[in-house]
Formats: sequence, C-alpha cells, structure tokens
Amino acid sequence: MSWSNALVKEILKPESLIISSEIAVVIADKFPKARHHYLVLPLADIPSIFHLNRSHLPLLEELHLLARNVVEVKGLHWQDFNVGFHAEPSMQRLHLHVVSRDFVSPSLKNKKHWNSFNTELFVPYTKLYSQLEKENSISRLSKSLKDELLAKPLICNQCEFVAKNLPTLKEHLVAHLQDPKSIRKRTTSENKRTSSSP
Ligand SMILES: [Zn+2]
Ligand SMILES: [Zn+2]
Repeated sequence: MSWSNALVKEILKPESLIISSEIAVVIADKFPKARHHYLVLPLADIPSIFHLNRSHLPLLEELHLLARNVVEVKGLHWQDFNVGFHAEPSMQRLHLHVVSRDFVSPSLKNKKHWNSFNTELFVPYTKLYSQLEKENSISRLSKSLKDELLAKPLICNQCEFVAKNLPTLKEHLVAHLQDPKSIRKRTTSENKRTSSSP
C-alpha cells in the first residue's frame, strides 16, 4: 500500500481504534500536530472531500458526533479543539481532524504544517457542511490561492503575534499553554500585545 493509503491500513487494525461505530472510527493521528490530535474516518470507501455530495450530510453528522465523543471520552474540552478538513488532503480516505488548539507538538515541524491547519487550508466542519448543503459538492482551491496560503506569515492562532520563524512560534505557543491568562487576552483589547511570556 502506498503512503497515501496509510490511513486505510490503520483503520483495519482493531488496536488503533479509540472509538468505533457501524459507520465510522476514531484513531489517533500518528504525527500529532498538537497535544491532542484525532482523526475520524468513515468505514465506507470515500477517498476525499471531493467525493462528497448532499447524500453524505448524515455521514458527516456521524463523523462530527464521534469527534465530540472522543473529546468527551478523553476528558477534554470541546472548545479547545479545531474540527475540520484539509482543503487539499494528502492522505486517502476522507478524514475529519480533531486537533487541540495548543499546537504544541514535536511533530509540528515546518511552516506548511502550521499553515495547513491555521489558514483557509483548514476548512472547519461547519463551513464544509454548509457548502455541501448549498452546492452539493466541495470545490478545490486554485493553485495560486493554495500557494498564497502556504506562504502566509506565521500568525499565532491565539493572539495577533506574528512569528519570524517556526522555533519562535513554537516557543510562543508553549507560553500560551503555560500561562492561561495569555489565552484570555485574545478576547480583550489587549490582544495586540505580542509578548505573553510570564
Ligand atoms: Zn489530513
Ligand atoms: Zn499568541
């Protein structure tokens, strides 16, 4: 099996499954981009978001339900998670990412990793669901838009800090994790402050 089929191989292993239903399963992402990172996959052979139409809306609801379940089972908080799909998926088999917003992980290694989860390259579940409902299909981003999003500066997902490089961003993200007050700042007028170190 090729690398892009690794997910399909993974869901065939019972020991990989955190939760399973008759329709879908939840596994841990092998290369978590945050402290908590799960994937919800349908058992039906649906290669990607580009193979979806309105008839799949109930299936998406099931994936979303399992996403909520895994967060609950792990004793975590739903509001700490980003839940959505990659606009340009690289792995075969449709999968819903359930990733904690801290993005503190050794597997977050390059700008592409960051921007693929923190720009429009990541499509929130609700956005994809309503697009599918309205248009009966999911359209691809243009190559130029994709390149533009990948090249975007490294902007923190919790405040307005713009990091000059990935190590700086990673250090900044750890500071958010260690100092919950810095997280609260994003909702106040103070969120222009770029330093959150204790
Ligand atoms: Zn993915
Ligand atoms: Zn920040």
